[in-house]
Amino acid sequence: MKIQNVVIIGSGTMGSGIAAHLCNADIPVTLLDLKTEISEKARDRIFKSKPPLLLDKSKINNIKIGNISDNFNVVEEADWIVEAVVERIDVKHSIYKKIFEERKAGAIVSSNTSSIPIKILSEKLTKEEKKDFCITHFFNPVRYMGLLEIVKNENNDLEKINSLKNFCETELGKGAIICNDTPGFLGNRVGVYAMQIAMTEAFKMKLSIEEADAIFGRPMGIPKTGIFGLYDLIGIDLMADVLKSFIKELPEKDNFHKVAKEIPLIKKLIETGYTGRKGKGGFYRINKVDGNKVMEALNLETGQYLPAKKINIKSEKVDLKTLIDRDDKYGEYAWSVISKIIMYASSLVPKITKEFNDIDEAMRLGFNWAKGPFEMLEEIGVTNFFDKINNYEENVFLKNLAKTRNEKFYGERQKYTDIETLGKVKKTALSVDGNKSAEIYRFKDYNIVEFTTKANALDYDSMDALKKATDKPLIIINESMQFSAGVNLSYTMDFADKGDFKSIEKFIRYFQETCKHLKYSEHPVISAPSGLTLGGGFEVMVHSNFVASHTNIVVGLVETIVGLIPAGGGCKEMLARWLETDESKKDPNFAPLKVFDIIGYAKTATSPVEAEPMKYLRTEDKKIMNRNSLLEVSRKIIRDNIDFKAPKETTFKLPGKKAKDEMIKILEKLYNEKVILDHGMEVGKELANVLSGGDTTIDKTLSEEDIFQLELDSFMKLIETKKTQERIKHTLFTGKPLIN
Ligand code: NAD
Repeated sequence: MKIQNVVIIGSGTMGSGIAAHLCNADIPVTLLDLKTEISEKARDRIFKSKPPLLLDKSKINNIKIGNISDNFNVVEEADWIVEAVVERIDVKHSIYKKIFEERKAGAIVSSNTSSIPIKILSEKLTKEEKKDFCITHFFNPVRYMGLLEIVKNENNDLEKINSLKNFCETELGKGAIICNDTPGFLGNRVGVYAMQIAMTEAFKMKLSIEEADAIFGRPMGIPKTGIFGLYDLIGIDLMADVLKSFIKELPEKDNFHKVAKEIPLIKKLIETGYTGRKGKGGFYRINKVDGNKVMEALNLETGQYLPAKKINIKSEKVDLKTLIDRDDKYGEYAWSVISKIIMYASSLVPKITKEFNDIDEAMRLGFNWAKGPFEMLEEIGVTNFFDKINNYEENVFLKNLAKTRNEKFYGERQKYTDIETLGKVKKTALSVDGNKSAEIYRFKDYNIVEFTTKANALDYDSMDALKKATDKPLIIINESMQFSAGVNLSYTMDFADKGDFKSIEKFIRYFQETCKHLKYSEHPVISAPSGLTLGGGFEVMVHSNFVASHTNIVVGLVETIVGLIPAGGGCKEMLARWLETDESKKDPNFAPLKVFDIIGYAKTATSPVEAEPMKYLRTEDKKIMNRNSLLEVSRKIIRDNIDFKAPKETTFKLPGKKAKDEMIKILEKLYNEKVILDHGMEVGKELANVLSGGDTTIDKTLSEEDIFQLELDSFMKLIETKKTQERIKHTLFTGKPLIN
């Protein structure tokens, strides 16, 4: 069945998120609530949301609004009705009664419940009605979280469920996993258990919250919010409700009960309004001390807030084996948490799910983990794992695995989808080369480069891998959250601290050379970005011959924020793109000034819709809702370009001093208005020099090499300044720019 019109009932956090995402897919959608004012407020929230729920804010009015008393007749037209009202069974039952009286025959009705079993939700429905009823459990924020759990009932029309699954995959870009009707389904059952075990073990081992978050975070392939940061983000009170519902639903002997007991400190936090980021604070809070904002962390023993400490556990990469073998409390904590998560997740197989792989994928898509519990087990090593544990007699999965000790037990990945994903391909592809920053795979007739550093920051090795991999058509793609956050600044600063600017220059030259090599190599190069595609990451993408972009990207040249200018060809390629416009043909200053504005303000786009007008993306670049499809689309590009010929070298006619004077005027105005200070002026002048073509004149044609040289000269001048170094260090330390 075709889904062309959707009605959502309940316009709270989830209803509005789902509506926004349907709007992203250009599906007509109406949002109903008790009163129209409530859905109207929801629409305002969507419009103002950060990060934005909409790909294109100008489409906000495509979301129609109304109330359930006057506008319920819209349900008659809907192909799919999503219920996202409060988690109360009486309210849900009365809504279903109304929906089934009004809906057109065969329309799908689903609930977004997180905790009410489908058995109970559907207990008042007729057999015929049950055919079309299921749970579609989206995760918050809907645009960004990949997981959608679909729960069937015993009477479902399976063809319909499959077509809904397909719709959610292709049109909404979700990883749709069919789950059984068990509490918390897969994502929350394992995810919330993992959060609880991470928290209770931290209490038990007397770790500070900063220490726990430093381990149960990046080093384990888990988002850097860690455990206590995540609690604050979700809401400490909401988590308490979630736990209550698990305690109510799960059988007494389920190990979940051991980690879900009420903790006095948490009770006190909730009672005093410390419910997390939405409240007065939580495990962390921002406090004003002498007029300055200070991040403070709660001392779990005394209940006092103290300035948060930065914990450096000196582990740049996810390396579980090394982490659990550490001979300190961090190693002990990591092992205790990881082993218990593996034990719990595996205890759910086969009763809760036959496919252990689905648990891993739910953790990737619903919690942004790099690896699920079973992949963690694979990484630690089966024998290694069993040598360290006992007491798994009741665990069918582990008991069987203990017999075979098969290190290769894992088998296929991403079984929930028919799409040939990167995850699937990597399992069978040949690993041809690699280094500490990237892997090169060969699959059939093409290569894949996957960056592997933190936030996929780029260094010499990343460039090396790209260069080596161009002996075949190349797809640059990865499974982690970011395509690349840019050049590794701490790598660069290590040289700067030693005064070794020659090495920085050498690296930038190599970066430029590699980018040029990507653009002009004999075989096509395709970038398939998702997430942050900033600075150097953008420069890699922009030098690729083709782009297959996920709709969830944040793209831009942000170098000026740290007092630098793009020097890997970012200025060059942006100039090339803007020089092609009609306006530029009429006005030689047009392109340089336009790029000056974009790079100078470090403008970023949070979707392809925003990226195109800035020319960070081109019209012909592919834009894809389902991240899983990026590889397939990239491969199709290769197939469609069998006769690929590298492009001709670009040349540049730039206005020189004329454009530069204009730019300096803009800078002076900003300086007089105190928008920028001395150093901002210095950075701006360097940028102006590059974008105007230096001291050239309109009659001279510049080559790509010429612009590279201008970029390099300005970059080197800036990186040698104390102020730029201070800005970079500040950003590295705080993750935020230094504003002055
Ligand atoms: P919410 O409290 O933000 O919103 C609920 C909305 O339902 C409110 O706007 C309320 O006015 C409206 N409502 C209440 N009774 C109604 C009625 N009779 N008719 C129409 N509207 C009515 O709740 P939420 O967080 O959006 O949760 C909605 C559903 O999604 C729940 O079942 C919840 O378990 C589930 N869920 C929530 C999350 C999450 O992170 N918040 C995640 C996944 C699933």
